[in-house]
Amino acid sequence: MNIRRRELFLMALGALPAMAATKRKALLIDGQNNHDWKLTSPYLKRYLEETGMFTVDVATTPEKGGDMASFRPKFKDYAIVVLNYNGEDWVKETEGDFAAYVKGGGGVVVVHAANNAFPAWPEFNEMIGLGGWGNRTEKSGPYLRLREGKWVPDMTPGRGGHHGKQHAYRMLLRDGAHPIMRGLPKEWMHAQDELYDNLRGPAKNVHVLATGFSDPSTGGNGEHEPLLMVLPYGKGRVFHTAIGHAAPAVQSVDFIVTYQRGSEWAATGKVTQKLPSDFPGPDKVSQRAP
Ligand code: ZN
Repeated sequence: MNIRRRELFLMALGALPAMAATKRKALLIDGQNNHDWKLTSPYLKRYLEETGMFTVDVATTPEKGGDMASFRPKFKDYAIVVLNYNGEDWVKETEGDFAAYVKGGGGVVVVHAANNAFPAWPEFNEMIGLGGWGNRTEKSGPYLRLREGKWVPDMTPGRGGHHGKQHAYRMLLRDGAHPIMRGLPKEWMHAQDELYDNLRGPAKNVHVLATGFSDPSTGGNGEHEPLLMVLPYGKGRVFHTAIGHAAPAVQSVDFIVTYQRGSEWAATGKVTQKLPSDFPGPDKVSQRAP
């Protein structure tokens, strides 16, 4: 049954209004970033809407130097908050509202450079597990290193956050039993992107779902780097995707699918979305049209 026919069928059953009513609310935050957030935010909004599970509001902060006291989203109205923000600190009241929201069971999705934000906000750093740039160092917490199949904190002094030159790369599944990853291949190709390495942070309860190999031949550090992660914060669930620098990365099917599934998981703790047939295998990138 195609989508239109399914819609008509459900309308005939009187089921559609009920289904629409069960959509969850997502809040996408943007407005300042050293990345092209005006390009990526429409993708992030559309991908959530395409799941049929979310309605999306966008909260755009004032520009740099603007009055941040005016940025006071009602986080508690939302099932998830998606962070596409890497800019000036929020006011203490907004930070407090956000931390309370997540602690109380709110879902969070951290996209790429959002893990560069707020280096001096302890609750935020605990929430994202690992971050980069913003003068992060060993004072921010350990690196996470994969050693003999286990993730080990590494307190070697040094900066937090780096990447080599952009390229398409293979990603490796690290937990095929997690709801977000169920059914994914063991390895797949991700379209041209940055491959973040040497992130560091409190790294408490970080559960790594997938990695990319930071190849010295492209300027990397020779480590398998955590790129998709989940972690709890209070009663809340956090999905952290370190991929998605710009296009074509945000058009890469693996970015889309893990973002959609990670968002559902952050909102509900479950994933009901089926794996689409265009998910990439180990040798070839798969992209969707802009
Ligand atoms: Zn980037």
